[in-house]
Amino acid sequence: KPVIVWFRDDLRLADHPALHDAIDSGRPVIAVYVLDEETGGVRPLGGAARWWLHGALAALRAQLNDMGGTLLTFAGPAPETLDRLADISGAGALYCHYRYQKEARDQDSAVFDRLAGRRVEIVQRHGTLLRAPDAVRTKTGTPYRVFGAYWKAAVKLGPPPRPLAAPGRIRFWSSPTHWPKTMRPLDEDALLPRKPNWAGGLEADWTPGEAAGREILRDFVTHALAHYDTGRNEMAAEGSSRLSPYLRFGHVSPRQVWDAVSHIKGTDAEVFRGEIGWREFAWNTLYHAPDLPHRNLKPRFDIMRWRRDEGDVRAWQQGRTGIPIVDAGMRQLWETGWMHNRARMITASLLVKHLLIDWRVGEAWFWDTLVDADPANNAVNWQWVAGTGIEATPFFRVFSPLRQCERFDPDGDYMRRWVPELAKLTGKEIPAPWTLSQQSLRQAGVTLGKTYPEPIVDLDGGRQRALDALKATARTR
Ligand code: FAD
Repeated sequence: KPVIVWFRDDLRLADHPALHDAIDSGRPVIAVYVLDEETGGVRPLGGAARWWLHGALAALRAQLNDMGGTLLTFAGPAPETLDRLADISGAGALYCHYRYQKEARDQDSAVFDRLAGRRVEIVQRHGTLLRAPDAVRTKTGTPYRVFGAYWKAAVKLGPPPRPLAAPGRIRFWSSPTHWPKTMRPLDEDALLPRKPNWAGGLEADWTPGEAAGREILRDFVTHALAHYDTGRNEMAAEGSSRLSPYLRFGHVSPRQVWDAVSHIKGTDAEVFRGEIGWREFAWNTLYHAPDLPHRNLKPRFDIMRWRRDEGDVRAWQQGRTGIPIVDAGMRQLWETGWMHNRARMITASLLVKHLLIDWRVGEAWFWDTLVDADPANNAVNWQWVAGTGIEATPFFRVFSPLRQCERFDPDGDYMRRWVPELAKLTGKEIPAPWTLSQQSLRQAGVTLGKTYPEPIVDLDGGRQRALDALKATARTR
């Protein structure tokens, strides 16, 4: 009897405990991916993530082909699809990793219930986090709400297990050349954008798949890690790992990342390990607060009078706010499917605070446009920037975009790169073109309102409006 290995957000062969144990069972393996965006109310993938998934499935299939097998991909409800697959193949077991998001767990339960009727054994392993969410709890057994305390407790548990090596050999089940009509193959090409093809920049920047992920990790550890603590904040430099989509789709496991840096001492490596810790903390938080992507963690914000302004939202999405550091970030996102972490904080803060737009509007845009769009990381970080519940970050702490430029893009290179119509302005001039004399603007070929927008919000006025709105929530409570 063969066994099914159900791949999800773990599209790799190395350090894949479920695959490892399936191979160890000595029975032939069926590798399958099911795109089910119905069962359990799972949130459909955004456009950029769909683009990534297309490449990710192709890469995994190529790896399996090299080993004499293949990757089956289906669309539609996973319970029916896997039940039929078990029926057709006579599979005796299904191996997969635990998932930690409520909707995904509901989908898994529906699948397991269905397969129980067929007496298919279910084997689940932990494979996508360093520590399962239940493993790190306070003394009283409650989940941590603050990152520092969480991470201290997690580190105290000692190093995570070493990653598993890639399998040398897999014995595959030989799948039929024709499937019954009830099995709906996934139309993988439909994951790609049609007309217009907006993914040109993504194609130029990214190669999905395990091999590319491993190379990026190796490269990062050899070069950028030594300067990570400061380098990750310099917006014009490539000072961070860019591993996020690889972790998101599981081309690289957190244990592999940990293993690659665990022997390195010093602040840079420690800070980097802490960022991997943030990913753990985000997933922990989502596990214990499943509404996180659509509900304020602090109910006080439920009565916040957010503005509704389609024009402002569109200007923000398109990088036309007239505030260069914000426009640079939003254009980097649109063109490459990724944005520098500092820019994510600045752009998110402008939307939520200065423009007083509900953070969920921004969360949804990031969900659609990021190649690393992650249910936990995205929601946690949006709520962190918004001050609506993660950590103790208060709403009234408002990032100043101009101060951020001084500190993290002092020469203006990041802004110049992504907002080329301002390229002739100096590092001092570029953050606030609206403050410049007509002569300076003319010399740089800039006409506000024509070649580059006037700011859509007055930064001091927007800040005050946000603080007033916050005060109002306290009064009406
Ligand atoms: P590095 O600095 O090299 O960090 C290594 C890894 O640690 C990252 O790949 C990521 O997995 C993890 N990590 C780093 N920072 C964070 C963080 N603040 N929270 C959680 N994990 C972190 N990250 C996502 O992976 N997906 C998202 O959808 C996402 N949305 C975000 C939305 C907002 C508003 C903000 C402020 C941040 C968001 N982040 C998200 C977190 C962070 O910006 C990215 O993980 C990081 O920029 C990815 O680049 P990197 O891989 O080079 O990071």
